[in-house]
Amino acid sequence: MDEIADNSLTVNGERLWATLDRSSEIGAAPNGGLNRLALTDEDKEMRDQFRAWAETDGYSVTVDRLGNMFVRRGGMEPGLAPVIIGSHLDSQVNGGRFDGILGVLAGLEVLRSLDDAGIATRRAIEVVNWSNEESVRFHRATLFGSMAFAGQAVVEDVLASTDDDGLTVGAELARIGYAGPSPVGGRVIDANFELHIEQGSKLEAAGIPVGIVTGGCPTALFQIEVAGENAHIGPTPMARRRNALVGASEIVVLLNEIGWRHADTESRATATNIDLMPNKFGIIPHLAKLTVDMRHPDPDVLEAMKAAFVSGIDAAAERSRCTIKAENHLNLGGLTFDTELVDLLRETAARIGAPAMDLLSMAAHDAYAISTIAPAAMIFTPCKDGVTHNEAEDIDPASTLPGVNVLLNAALSRAQR
Ligand SMILES: [Zn+2]
Repeated sequence: MDEIADNSLTVNGERLWATLDRSSEIGAAPNGGLNRLALTDEDKEMRDQFRAWAETDGYSVTVDRLGNMFVRRGGMEPGLAPVIIGSHLDSQVNGGRFDGILGVLAGLEVLRSLDDAGIATRRAIEVVNWSNEESVRFHRATLFGSMAFAGQAVVEDVLASTDDDGLTVGAELARIGYAGPSPVGGRVIDANFELHIEQGSKLEAAGIPVGIVTGGCPTALFQIEVAGENAHIGPTPMARRRNALVGASEIVVLLNEIGWRHADTESRATATNIDLMPNKFGIIPHLAKLTVDMRHPDPDVLEAMKAAFVSGIDAAAERSRCTIKAENHLNLGGLTFDTELVDLLRETAARIGAPAMDLLSMAAHDAYAISTIAPAAMIFTPCKDGVTHNEAEDIDPASTLPGVNVLLNAALSRAQR
């Protein structure tokens, strides 16, 4: 084990990269990325690989009812609350190889590096693979592993939620062998660390390898229902139409304009998906359902964006002659990570000589949920050109390992507390 002058530890970068390379083979997508959606065969294969690595190294593995996996390196004082390092092994559709995955495998590398150095810790350290962080497959089940663990989602509701084929979370967990016996949550955690690629380009632009994440960008999600009326596209005159797709289009444009209004202060406003009924040629559609998302680092500006959106809906309804309902069903972010842990990350980066800067997270992460029940903080590492949720997502060891070393040394400090 390498030890540098101030007695800080370093991880084995080659070994970490070997695990990332192996992960990249499981659910490989055609252009270098991953298709490893939650609770698919590919997710099962990766989970099995992660479990095999853990068990080979002598760590215990427990799985809870929602498939969250806890790889535990025991501590000298088993009664003390553990330090947790968690992220996710699932991917988006045609997603990248490192989003989430780096955080889990960096956690595994932390445990292995402590073994190499012969260090026993007072507290156990657990590496967690949170189920379904990407939230692309199942309906109304966002980041369900960590959110249910934190009591922000109801386990039975999550188990009953379905994908586009009507398969439930519960049935799919059972099918892949990850409907575990442990209860979800209800545990005391000393500290939660999550290392994640930045998914932006601020670190790269600054030439700084370590981002200390101070909090999460305030984020508001709305579910939109546009109700119109079925009609034949030929005989129905323009004045008689109530086309739900037109109403939905008005919403999409309204949202986009609100985003542009605040673009110079880092606003985000996005419509990404639509369910349209009947979605057949020849029929004016009667129903459109959308989920839209607005973000702004300043909560007051986000409130102004939300208000502008809500007040624009009447005009959109009038122009399209549809009825439009908007429900602000979920708010994320707007959180400040634990100041003690954030300070620990800053001090650790300074101690080991890793250049670091503070950042706000623009994306939601498992650490958001865990921060509601335990001290939590995040480390960002650079990703090439900020490309993410894309097969071309890429990182390199030179700019990644400083962050992993901060994780190792910070988790060690906390585990010896
Ligand atoms: Zn992620």
